[in-house]
Amino acid sequence: MKITFHGAAGGVTGSKHLIEAGGKRVLLDCGMFQGRRQEALELNWGMSQDLTDVDAVVLSHAHLDHCGLLPLLVKRGYRGKIFCTSATRDITEFILKDSANIQEQDFKWMTKERLPLSQPAEPLYVGDDVPETMQAFRDVGYASDVKNWTTIIPGVRLKFFNAGHILGSAWMMLEFDGEAGPERLAFSGDIGRFHTPLLRDPEYSDEAAPVLLLESTYGNREHKAREIAYEKLKRAIIRATDRRGKVVIPAFALGRTQELIYVLHRMHDAGSIPEIPIYIDSPLGINMTSVYRAHAEQYDLESKKDFPHKGDAPLVDERIHYTRTVRESMELNEKHGPFVVIASSGMMEGGRIRHHLRHTVSDERNIILIIGYQAEYTLGRRFVDREPQVRLFNEWYDVRAEVVTLNEFSAHGDAKELHAFADNLTGLRKVFLVHGEHDQATALRDRLLYNNDGLKVTIPQRGDTVEL
Ligand SMILES: [Zn+2]
Repeated sequence: MKITFHGAAGGVTGSKHLIEAGGKRVLLDCGMFQGRRQEALELNWGMSQDLTDVDAVVLSHAHLDHCGLLPLLVKRGYRGKIFCTSATRDITEFILKDSANIQEQDFKWMTKERLPLSQPAEPLYVGDDVPETMQAFRDVGYASDVKNWTTIIPGVRLKFFNAGHILGSAWMMLEFDGEAGPERLAFSGDIGRFHTPLLRDPEYSDEAAPVLLLESTYGNREHKAREIAYEKLKRAIIRATDRRGKVVIPAFALGRTQELIYVLHRMHDAGSIPEIPIYIDSPLGINMTSVYRAHAEQYDLESKKDFPHKGDAPLVDERIHYTRTVRESMELNEKHGPFVVIASSGMMEGGRIRHHLRHTVSDERNIILIIGYQAEYTLGRRFVDREPQVRLFNEWYDVRAEVVTLNEFSAHGDAKELHAFADNLTGLRKVFLVHGEHDQATALRDRLLYNNDGLKVTIPQRGDTVEL
């Protein structure tokens, strides 16, 4: 077996791993690189041509850094199938259309401004490229439902297990017919946390695999319980209501927005927050919520306990309003508090959230509530770092609003959970730590190796190939 790490190796974006065994070549994920513009552009355009003639693609989940280059792969000639769960397929379609749209807008803007970037001649792909990509998708159920291996191409079998990270997310086991018998490998995709609303907990399997590609996003962190964040969220809403202020929450459209709807619904039912209007002002967030509702069969048992009444749907709360049009969104800018608005993007780098911030940031009655990871060089990071001023639409604004940062909403398992995941895989001999910054990956390596002499743990870099 040969593994080549084409992305999310020595970093967290661009997840792409090529597995070659028994004369077959399978690509795990085909994600987009994100981060600093020029570097990301070069890495995305530089995707190896070699990947377009793999025999199959398997997709772990619908986050852009795992699925975002699939249309480019198809555009460049890939003619095989893309295997994933049905919920992942439904979400991916929205994510790819949204990404195409952003690229088209960006491209227009870059052309207009003549940015001093080495400008590509076109976007990576456009909206019209997405339907052909979607035709290549084939659904595979979780092993707990289908009970057996799915043969994806002759000589290669697949099992999906629930990863508990976002709706439809899977970790997987692959089995290749090798010369000396079957060869197995497990790939974690992104592993979620236990007790996340709506989602089932990450699943363990009895199947053995000697090799594991394991994510390491939070390999050096231990998360606090989510309930702590919910309590702080509740108190922030009460505080802002007392001051007749607004609560502005930048949130990722996929996952985080649905979790907020769930917990706010639960607080409404319990009467623990005042009945002030709550707006979801994100077209993609609204679409994602409809996919979540369409896959209610995937919800966990806790959601049934939290919403026990017949006909109760965790993501349906008539006190939460959805604004689809630009006009409705702009009307919120003029509206007086108290109210809550949830909008994307999650790191405040684009989208409707910037308009809401412009209208709230300089008034001390308001609260800006940050619930997601804010990468370096983003506007969100300036808020986290308590910078006194921020720049929005080419103007500087004093930050007078209260800034509240909640770190407990993570969709990734922490060091303890990743360690437990690896520990539960029987027959494990080699671990490759992917999808993590250097410090996170090395800390997880040390943790996995502690008291485990038989295990080999490697941190591959982008472009590395290993023969097993
Ligand atoms: Zn993910």
